[in-house]
Amino acid sequence: MGAKLAPLVVVSGPSGVGKSTVVDAVLDLAPDVWLSVSATTRPPRAGEVNGREYFFVDNSEFSRLIEHDELLEWAEFAGNRYGTPRGPVLEHRASGTPVILEIEVAGARQVRARVPEAQLVFLAPPSWPELEARLIGRGTESAESVAKRLAAAEQELAAAPEFDRVIVNTDVGHCAGALVACLHDQPQT
Ligand code: 5GP
Repeated sequence: MGAKLAPLVVVSGPSGVGKSTVVDAVLDLAPDVWLSVSATTRPPRAGEVNGREYFFVDNSEFSRLIEHDELLEWAEFAGNRYGTPRGPVLEHRASGTPVILEIEVAGARQVRARVPEAQLVFLAPPSWPELEARLIGRGTESAESVAKRLAAAEQELAAAPEFDRVIVNTDVGHCAGALVACLHDQPQT
């Protein structure tokens, strides 16, 4: 029997719910955790660095990653493709490092199917108007992209019951603490 792999925690939820802020707080609280860096065909936003926020790739490179089975999961979201490189996730878990993925719902379903022991956490907004306000207010998206993301959010919210845990993002510290407990394999109440 192989050595036990470190925990894999997936955090998902609609665009604008505050996943990145919560994940940043997780990494502050638990520096032993590794955040997977996804590949995407989306162009970088101002300030984003290749290899840090994402690996920014073109469509043919993304197709190559799929064909060579180099992605643990992937999905199309708001007109671009996003995927989790498989190798680094396994390597970190095998060396005892807990891994967190911040991905959308279709990708979380694929992780559930391929890695049954993964813990799936859904981050929900306090309310729909709050989600709209956050997505528009952060000012990173064009009107077209906001509209696509809100349309996706309606479908994503319906998927919440499929997750092991749903946490309403009213307090970043509370959400981050709950995720750290999962990543450190501590029983939840
Ligand atoms: P954004 O363009 O705002 O960075 O990300 C858009 C959506 O794609 C977010 O919901 C984000 O969590 C999700 N996402 C980022 N990386 C991945 C990935 O590797 N796989 C999947 N399935 N979704 C991802």
